[in-house]
Amino acid sequence: VISLKHVGKSFGEMVVFEDISLHVNRGEIVSILGSSGSGKSTLFNIIAGLIPIDHGDVIVKGTVGYMQQKDLLLPWKTVSANVGLPLKLKGVEKEDIKKRIEEYLPLVGLEGYEDKFPFQLSGGMRQRASFLRTLMTSEEIFLLDEAFGSLDSITRGQMQKWLLEMKRELDNTVVFITHDIDEAILLSDRIYVISKIPAEIKKEIDVDFHKDDKNKRL
Ligand code: ATP
Ligand code: MG
Repeated sequence: VISLKHVGKSFGEMVVFEDISLHVNRGEIVSILGSSGSGKSTLFNIIAGLIPIDHGDVIVKGTVGYMQQKDLLLPWKTVSANVGLPLKLKGVEKEDIKKRIEEYLPLVGLEGYEDKFPFQLSGGMRQRASFLRTLMTSEEIFLLDEAFGSLDSITRGQMQKWLLEMKRELDNTVVFITHDIDEAILLSDRIYVISKIPAEIKKEIDVDFHKDDKNKRL
């Protein structure tokens, strides 16, 4: 359902990707690993159609629910209103939205926080509210950018378990960015690594490599 072929993307002079290819099949969970600044969030912005590419092909078949890395909860709306927003936009009845929220908030440990505003929550709570809001969109493809990044290991474990259960039930396609290799192994069918060695380190490696070369020749 997602196919990127030989995609290149730069921001001005700064080249993020020269040639990246990625394929995700329907119903898969695929994790993306890569160092900070390697372009993972940029890759999601490309898949979500938020930013243009310089060259290559991007095909996305299906609707996308995107949990961005930065917290995009609306500050002037309560937890309930934020989480229920995708349902409201779809024209779901007020009573039904309320029921669904009552059912789901406990699953992310936010029962009792219905009427709180984002500034009254911890970072991890905001993250869980964003996660739930993304799932509420019920889109075919979920892009989750470090969805569990700032959670303690117990809460993180609960969220991982819930994501797997939800996945089994709904059979969505999930692409998941994480810095946690164990999380990637636990959750995913396949793992992609964006490997980008900074130019300075590459130079050092090259120098070392040639040194070795010389030694061999001697
Ligand atoms: P992290 O693990 O820290 O979240 P990342 O892999 O998600 O990192 P990106 O956010 O995709 O990295 O950024 C990749 C590079 O592109 C960075 O060098 C960043 O500064 C640059 N970049 C991202 N968005 C923009 C933008 N809108 N304009 C200019 N440069 C950008
Ligand atoms: Mg990122």
